[in-house]
Amino acid sequence: MGDLLIFLGMFVLGSLFGSYMNVMIFRIPAQILADAGLWESQDEKVIRGNRSACRYCEAPIPGWLNIPIISWTLLGGKTQCCKKPLSLQYPLVEALVGFVFVLVYWKFPFIELVPTLDIVPRTSLQFLHAAAFSFLLIACSIIDYKHFLIPDVISIPMILVAPIVAYFHPNLGVYDSLFGILVGGGILWLVNFLYKLVKGHDGMGFGDVKLLAAIGGWLGVQAIIPTLITASVVGSVIGIMLILIQKRDYKLEVPFGPFLSLGALLHFFVGPDFWVSLFS
Ligand SMILES: [Zn+2]
Repeated sequence: MGDLLIFLGMFVLGSLFGSYMNVMIFRIPAQILADAGLWESQDEKVIRGNRSACRYCEAPIPGWLNIPIISWTLLGGKTQCCKKPLSLQYPLVEALVGFVFVLVYWKFPFIELVPTLDIVPRTSLQFLHAAAFSFLLIACSIIDYKHFLIPDVISIPMILVAPIVAYFHPNLGVYDSLFGILVGGGILWLVNFLYKLVKGHDGMGFGDVKLLAAIGGWLGVQAIIPTLITASVVGSVIGIMLILIQKRDYKLEVPFGPFLSLGALLHFFVGPDFWVSLFS
């Protein structure tokens, strides 16, 4: 019973973070596009700083309408003030992050109920690392999926704090983290460099280069190859499926960030032998 309550608590905590992720997913790319003079939405405004105002009509949003999942459901997917559509993305992201927090806690249960209520320091550090890492990768993936960009305001701070995170993490080493940044960023930078040499233009964004550097920094250098294998295999399969379904040409653009993130998260949660276990 106690365990069930903790899992429920983790879902609620995750959905609150998911609610914040929805703000990031809207505001970060909106700001980047607005700064570049490319923000095209005539309806939705980029509201700096103010989280509790409607982005269509700027009416204040009462606190009770910021409850994850429940508010959207009660409102039937429309804003209360001006009845404009509220994307299904909001409750979906809130539920997804809630579910991910439950998974992370399941993997790193840092609360002990028996014999007394206790927090395990080692496991709580692992939980914090895994929750923050998953949160940031999911945010990058959704932004990349929607806008074909991986924001520097997420990837660069992730790279900068990675060695510190590794220092405090019970299973990670600072050198593994530093090599992870170098190898992760280096491999994709080299791929891009060679592609440019042959084709004359960039093959992928430098957002991917920085994202894989961040992944290497947060998981260690050992994670780079498994992450790249999963990302390439799943990315190619989905890319080919999209070409077949939509009968588009081969210039179809598929963002790589979500696949890099999927590869990193599978490696992290399932383990280094993910592909081996699939074929044995
Ligand atoms: Zn409104």
